[in-house]
Amino acid sequence: MNPAFENITSLRAKLAARDITPTEVIEALRARCTQVEPSVSAFNHLDWDTALREAATADASLPLGGVPIAIKDVIAVKGQPCTCSSKILKGHTAVYDAGVIERLRSLGAVPVGRCNMDEFAMGSSTENSADGPTRNPWDTSRIPGGSSGGSAACVAAHEAIASLGSDTGGSIRQPAALCGCVGLKPTYGRVSRYGLVAFASSLDQIGPFTKTVRDAATLLGAISGRDPRDCTSLDQPVPDYTASLEQGVKGLRIGVPKEYFIEGMDKDVEQTTRQALDQLAKLGAELVDISLPHTNYALSSYYIIAPAEASANLARFDGVRYGARVPDGKDVLDVYSRTRALGFGNEVKRRIILGTYVLSSGYYDAYYLRAQKVRTLIRKDFEEAWKKCDIIATPTTPTPAFKLGEKTGDPIQMYLSDVFTIAVNMAGLCGLSLPCGFVQRDSTDLPLGLQFIGKAFDEATLLRASHAYEQSTEWHTRRPVL
Ligand code: GLN
Repeated sequence: MNPAFENITSLRAKLAARDITPTEVIEALRARCTQVEPSVSAFNHLDWDTALREAATADASLPLGGVPIAIKDVIAVKGQPCTCSSKILKGHTAVYDAGVIERLRSLGAVPVGRCNMDEFAMGSSTENSADGPTRNPWDTSRIPGGSSGGSAACVAAHEAIASLGSDTGGSIRQPAALCGCVGLKPTYGRVSRYGLVAFASSLDQIGPFTKTVRDAATLLGAISGRDPRDCTSLDQPVPDYTASLEQGVKGLRIGVPKEYFIEGMDKDVEQTTRQALDQLAKLGAELVDISLPHTNYALSSYYIIAPAEASANLARFDGVRYGARVPDGKDVLDVYSRTRALGFGNEVKRRIILGTYVLSSGYYDAYYLRAQKVRTLIRKDFEEAWKKCDIIATPTTPTPAFKLGEKTGDPIQMYLSDVFTIAVNMAGLCGLSLPCGFVQRDSTDLPLGLQFIGKAFDEATLLRASHAYEQSTEWHTRRPVL
């Protein structure tokens, strides 16, 4: 088989048996990218020479020896460009490896390519990229989701074996759902963010995109754990997430929140999710009706908290320390303001302005403080829910992939793409999306995702339920025609 179509597990078996070399794997991905990248545009940057050099010395006896992993352009890989798909960081090269990259390298993996994204991870369609949009491999007139659209599309298009993305309000799970792959947002504190360009620091997490749930378990295990350079990463033991995969769902209590199945929701999304729930019941899970009463407020409070944190985090892009700078600044203020005016795109500017406003004196209490209180209520909703269930299941997105350009003129419509994913970040929990069916739009089949939400640091249960569902369905075996 073409190595590009392998997953981590199947590829590792061949690498360990020396049926294939790490160099041949990179060559296969290069050939695949030559063929399909012109229609997908998943990457901002591909440096095959470096990949081949690193593959040549990869130790195939290590757990991830010779496995290439594509990396979202927001995670630092030493010597490679790190632009966050922003004009303001054009020309910036990372000077160190992120914590997750160090871990991957120590296990033998090879970082390959910089995945396209919404600028600074702000968006839900990858259309806010200074490098142009990525296209959905199932229908290239549609968006792949965002902000990690490139990370999702390259895995779905088999231009990568697996990838890393970041998730602040849904940016791993939403594109995974719309591209038909597995996407996992780990618990806040599970994975080091050292070397991740910060968007909203109380929400950001790095996580994997994979072709199978087993691969997600493998990659999560590889990147998890305490890193003293990220004080929010916690010293919790990292279990072998693959060990408990086969335990099934018999007796598992799966909460179904009524607020995620509302009047007027997309009929296909509702039907597909209900069928997935029936399937889980057939496998022996117990479905439990639950309520998360503050769900309605998650989106609006997120769009206060995330921009507030972004406005502070993005202050560092001043034309002095990183990337682009206007050449003819009159004085320091002129350099700051003109560099930022030219360097940031519209959505990033919108967030910085909004964030600065809600933090300013006189408005702080009315907006920011209030949003933080709502956040506590959202977290308490989940604490109540965990008394009745072990895991929660919902749709990942309110619709399948929409057309390029369909929502770019209407920020609110764009923000609504994340209604089902944002509460997980607000509560600091873990969430996973996996393919749960296909629906037709314009006579093309488009994937949909099922989201599982787990308790903090209980990724093992999330993965076990996902694996049981995946193994009883065939959705993960389908391939887009490109
Ligand atoms: N789409 C959401 C936003 O624009 C979430 C982004 C993310 O998770 N990085 O903020």
